[in-house]
Amino acid sequence: MRNNNRILIVDDTETDREMYRRCLEKGGFAGWTIVESEDGADALAQYRAVAFDLVLLDYSLPGRTGIDLLKDFREDQDYAPVVIITGQGNEGVAIDCMKNGAQDYLVKGEFSAESFLHAVRNALERIEMQKKIARQYESLKNFSHVLAHDLKAPIKRMYSLSDIISDSVERKQYETVDRFFGEVRKSAVLMDELIDALNAYNSLDAADVAFDCVDMQTVFGNLMSIAGTEIEEKRAKVTCDGLPVVRGNAAQLTQLLQNLVLNGIKYSRSDVPTVHVAAAQVDGEWRISVRDNGIGIDCQYFRRIFEPFKRLHGSDEFSGSGLGLATCKRIVDAHGGRIWCESDLGVGTTFHFTLPVPERAAEEKPLVA
Ligand code: ADP
Repeated sequence: MRNNNRILIVDDTETDREMYRRCLEKGGFAGWTIVESEDGADALAQYRAVAFDLVLLDYSLPGRTGIDLLKDFREDQDYAPVVIITGQGNEGVAIDCMKNGAQDYLVKGEFSAESFLHAVRNALERIEMQKKIARQYESLKNFSHVLAHDLKAPIKRMYSLSDIISDSVERKQYETVDRFFGEVRKSAVLMDELIDALNAYNSLDAADVAFDCVDMQTVFGNLMSIAGTEIEEKRAKVTCDGLPVVRGNAAQLTQLLQNLVLNGIKYSRSDVPTVHVAAAQVDGEWRISVRDNGIGIDCQYFRRIFEPFKRLHGSDEFSGSGLGLATCKRIVDAHGGRIWCESDLGVGTTFHFTLPVPERAAEEKPLVA
């Protein structure tokens, strides 16, 4: 059965690409999607469009050095999910590759299926470990950020409110005490929500999540029950076209759709906030779109809004943790998809994300949702 894992083979010699593909297919990677590319620019475009677990990269491609490409594949992380394959053994090149974050280095002249598969498996294990460490580091960083900034504001506010309350009690102005207690409660709720959001974000990779066939129509129905009161209170109109069955984790996909739909309602100044969820099959994947008639997003922030704690508005205008879209991105990444947005200021925003199509007809029957 096909899984969501992908390997990219980058080599300008067709017979070499064919040899690696065969070794992989015979060596236990038959269920993986193996994509071939014969030049660096195309490989990089493919890599940026869809996440790959590993790139097998020929060191000498026409026009680009292996090290340049390695740096591109590394992007903003400390490691590159890349095994370099060179024409001849050269210790200097090998050291350079490893220094620049490659997982391993193979020499074509010494090629054997066994050593090749050994290098591929080791590299995949190491990458998994490096990803885990990077995520744990990010969680720690987020936690300290929340402690230092976001939790401090409501705590400070509670301090000043308690001063005001004790002053009001002293002056026997009991009518104001009630109001300020209400404000204390609001700050406590804010802290509570922030901690929940951080917890939800950090726990996304805590355990191995099970993937099954998930009916997005049922996910939508569940979401309408969970968020029903909020939708009613805002007098919002939330609709959907027929949604497909996809491969994924039902709980995470519910969280994803919920964050996008509720943002669509929240970031709106319309009397009737309207959100519509639609789906289409594009290039062998499901593309699900969540369109709203809200305030819109300036195009300079299209990428940055997915970073943890990036908020475009103050809490006095729209409340939030700044973790909603970062959580969405983490979920979509874990499903091997992409998420992005299009928007017109003052007109509305559409968030799109892609998810895998279940492979076999038998899988089209949803097991969970
Ligand atoms: P928050 O908890 O602040 O809602 P998110 O991560 O969900 O955090 O969103 C990040 C920022 O992106 C928000 O502060 C908001 O400025 C902007 N944003 C998110 N969704 C929308 C939307 N549908 N319309 C307009 N702006 C949005």
